[in-house]
Amino acid sequence: MLSLDKLYPQLSYAEKNGLLDKLNSIYKGLPQTDCERCGTCCTVPPPAYIVEYLNMFRYMKKNLSNFIPEMVEKAVRFYFLELVDISLKCPFLGDDQLCLVYPVRPLSCRGYGLSKKEKAFLGMRGEMEELAERYRVQHDIILPREVVDFQLPECGNVRLEDSKKVPTELLEVSISYIAQLESQLFPTELVDKEYTFVPYVTHLALTVLSEGARVRRPKIMKEYLENGSSDRLDQFIKKARAVNI
Ligand code: SF4
Ligand code: SF4
Repeated sequence: MLSLDKLYPQLSYAEKNGLLDKLNSIYKGLPQTDCERCGTCCTVPPPAYIVEYLNMFRYMKKNLSNFIPEMVEKAVRFYFLELVDISLKCPFLGDDQLCLVYPVRPLSCRGYGLSKKEKAFLGMRGEMEELAERYRVQHDIILPREVVDFQLPECGNVRLEDSKKVPTELLEVSISYIAQLESQLFPTELVDKEYTFVPYVTHLALTVLSEGARVRRPKIMKEYLENGSSDRLDQFIKKARAVNI
């Protein structure tokens, strides 16, 4: 993950070496789409590579700077509570159900509804039963059933504007090209194991949160499940909003 001190050096490296230009060219190679814009698929923000995070972060800084404290707050809240509160949505979903970072949304968001082999485009909740068991045994936390059982429905409402069909191979090849760009930022072993492939919201939260956040996450989840709120979470949010990102 990218801590605050590494964020700008990595962004500058990615810009100087043309990684973001290449990334945006890969996106341009995909057909334009339109859909019902119901926001359902944004319930579970899907994973993105860090090179995609850098691209999105640059866009946010240029175009959405007034919203950054609000987005940071939502990202931190989502990071701590995504496994205990199913009502949370991607922090980049606007009140009008439109994506605030649409021009630079990651490939996983672009691929949703386009491929039958949607595992890579459906977020990371495939192994929820195992995760729930781990939380029960290690932290004495019972994850709510509505979180464990949640599955995104397949979307049949995506329309292609400039092509009749998107071969699954195009999406898979595009992902592998982006993984190659990522390998110019991080060791290939890390990229191959998908250690850097997590939801954009998690990337952003971990940039603004201190080292201790990961360790305190279970305590905050438990506090929230018991009381419907968490003082510790409020303190993390207050500090994160004050970070000059
Ligand atoms: S892709 Fe489908 S689920 Fe997602 S916003 Fe569009 S219509 Fe809704
Ligand atoms: S980044 Fe945009 S398209 Fe992707 S899940 Fe979030 S709001 Fe939806």
